[in-house]
Amino acid sequence: MSGVEVIATAGIDTAPEESALVRDSRDALSTDGRLAAVLPGFHPRRAQQDLAAAVAAAFEDRAVLLAEAGTGTGKTFAYLVPALLSGRRTIISTGTRALQDQLYHRDLPRVRDALGTGLRAALLKGRANYLCRQRLERTRGENRFQSPAQAADFQRIAAWSARTRMGDLAEMESLPEDSPLLPLVTSTADNCLGSECPFWGECFVVQARQRAQEADIVVVNHHLLLADLALKQEGFGEILPGAEAFVVDEAHQLPELAAQFFGEGLSARPLVELARDAVAECRGVDGALAALQEPARALEQATRLLRAAMDVLPARGTRPQLLTVPEAVEALEALDSALMALTDALAPLADAAPGLEACQLRARDHRDRLARWRDLDDGGHDDESAGQSGPAVVPSSDDDVRWYELSPRGFRLQRTPLDVSGPLRAHRERSRAAWVFTSATLAVEGRF
Ligand code: SF4
Repeated sequence: MSGVEVIATAGIDTAPEESALVRDSRDALSTDGRLAAVLPGFHPRRAQQDLAAAVAAAFEDRAVLLAEAGTGTGKTFAYLVPALLSGRRTIISTGTRALQDQLYHRDLPRVRDALGTGLRAALLKGRANYLCRQRLERTRGENRFQSPAQAADFQRIAAWSARTRMGDLAEMESLPEDSPLLPLVTSTADNCLGSECPFWGECFVVQARQRAQEADIVVVNHHLLLADLALKQEGFGEILPGAEAFVVDEAHQLPELAAQFFGEGLSARPLVELARDAVAECRGVDGALAALQEPARALEQATRLLRAAMDVLPARGTRPQLLTVPEAVEALEALDSALMALTDALAPLADAAPGLEACQLRARDHRDRLARWRDLDDGGHDDESAGQSGPAVVPSSDDDVRWYELSPRGFRLQRTPLDVSGPLRAHRERSRAAWVFTSATLAVEGRF
């Protein structure tokens, strides 16, 4: 195969009668094919036809295909053609959101129109990309902006919210990707109120998910694919199991991302957001503010103190490195106590409002993550309160690497499994689908 190296296949019949799908895929990309007839500037390439044939065969056999396709092969069309001609429910995963938008808005419609297939396609991003109407309204009520510019940005989001159909924040081109407003107008799996939300019926996250469930081709990115596989409950957990084929483009990025998703982390920002959300959710609940204001303030303070104690450390390091700093060890203990105090203060209020119940679950989850990162099995943690504050902490595994990372004002405590091939393989086998992994650089010295 010129220009395409099929590095490994599993489950593909190696001496097949060429099936109709393989033949049609090759033909569509040939000199006399439909793409050449319809798309101006389309150049038929042998390597592209070969790759399309290999992808089609993998689809037919529900097999695994690893294909390295050099620049200029035209690999996007080479997998889109068999995916569209097969009529099978296919998930296509790209490396970034920008590539996802390009594939969905440009390449997919061109190939679909050229082939004349009427398949339904959907674009699905992680929930942080969609406006959350409930949080938008809450933020509007609070008016807690740090500057006039931020207040003006919020007004633009509010005006756009009335006219957007998809609620995809990428539509707001002038809003910076790191705008501090984003956490205030988007949801996380932790703070989403789910079916108890007053905006459930018009929720953009729910609608995006419904469109994906009804579509034949769903374009996702690796973050979302892995979140789904790792059951991180991005809120889309039922999308992927029904797929008959997965195409993972830019597949060389998968191992590193997978290590993040099959581990877990705890960072400063969600801790501060939890403290603020707990206070914000007090509105309309008798006695809630009196009970929560102090533990919420203490949690913010403990988070800030931990970051300050880590200032003497390098920007990235291991858990043993962090534990050599006595102030940081104390600050970790204080953070644990603050999370416990907030969890306990929230407990009698959880039934009063869904938002307060969600905050209690978040506080408990953060505390559990912190305990697993600290590895309290060998750290002598006094966990007398676990019975009151939540379920016992799940022990962490010896196969994890525990490390930290600092940003200018934040930190992340991360647990990463040493080997992600096991969980990835288990998910792939359970899916009983075809899996196609492709990239310009998949092999190292001829091996995946
Ligand atoms: S259901 Fe969740 S994401 Fe949707 S509007 Fe409500 S809180 Fe926001």
